[in-house]
Amino acid sequence: MLKIEFSAAIAWYLILTTCLVLLVLVFENRKGPKQFSSEKSFLWQCSICTYVYIDSRHANISQCSRCGSYNKKEEVEKGGSAYA
Ligand SMILES: [Zn+2]
Repeated sequence: MLKIEFSAAIAWYLILTTCLVLLVLVFENRKGPKQFSSEKSFLWQCSICTYVYIDSRHANISQCSRCGSYNKKEEVEKGGSAYA
């Protein structure tokens, strides 16, 4: 009787610990790339004055906060692909 409870306790301990470690690993993996990609999509570089700024309100066209010129998203992605 005591032996069964002891093994059950060990089994539960192992199951809970494994689930906890897996949850932490999955959460850390999800958290890292997601933050990076969202920050990258909000990052704009002006094609006129090369000023880098953050604009999370617009998706395709954004206005430079320094010189006021409009920038398309494609130009930022070109720079990213050239870097990679
Ligand atoms: Zn500018």
